[in-house]
Amino acid sequence: MTLSVPVATIRRRIRIPLRFVDGYTTTAGVYSFTGLADGLPHLALELGRPGAAGPPLVRPHSECLTGDVFGSQRCDCGPQLREAVERVAEHGGYVLYLRQEGRGIGLYDKLDAYALQDSGLDTYDANVALGHGTDERDYTGAAQMLHALDATRIRLLSNNPDKGAQLAGLGISIAEHIATGLHLAEANAGYLATKARRGGHGALAGARPRGHETPAARPASAGRGTLDTA
Ligand SMILES: [Zn+2]
Repeated sequence: MTLSVPVATIRRRIRIPLRFVDGYTTTAGVYSFTGLADGLPHLALELGRPGAAGPPLVRPHSECLTGDVFGSQRCDCGPQLREAVERVAEHGGYVLYLRQEGRGIGLYDKLDAYALQDSGLDTYDANVALGHGTDERDYTGAAQMLHALDATRIRLLSNNPDKGAQLAGLGISIAEHIATGLHLAEANAGYLATKARRGGHGALAGARPRGHETPAARPASAGRGTLDTA
């Protein structure tokens, strides 16, 4: 197979003990790379023992400062990341932390898009109103990291059909698609419903607010084996 994916190489691996706000702890081997196509400092977090139980479980996670760091409930990124780290650690694999804030439009434009959403546009139309595509993420960097890690046959943890399709086109064999859980709260119900409707996120279909359910991780609740999105 002839690949058009530029070669990236491992620059460094550092062990970082992780502790999340709910007390969950694990240790990640954090990789940096040389030669990533978009020049952004993406990371791969190695968790558990990749390959010990079949193809490594891989979760491509797009950076979300507001969700990942501050616990914003406008989206489900924080709980998605928390769930992914534990599930990948259990199986063995990688969380790819991709510097693609706001589906690729950047932090400031994401906040501008939030302002438009507050005036009635949904998350996709708001991006278009700002002159962006509905989803500008490109997974070449993710594929480059997986090639560098020799993880070219993976189990993909995602609800987003575009991730699997792009990775498959970049020389990554998807042995299995595994859906992420739903992380529903009052503040993100509209966002999740829009993702399900417009982003093709199959596992999110039928998302409804459920009272004051917290966005705590609900691993595996969306069922395994279906095409995932986020
Ligand atoms: Zn987010």
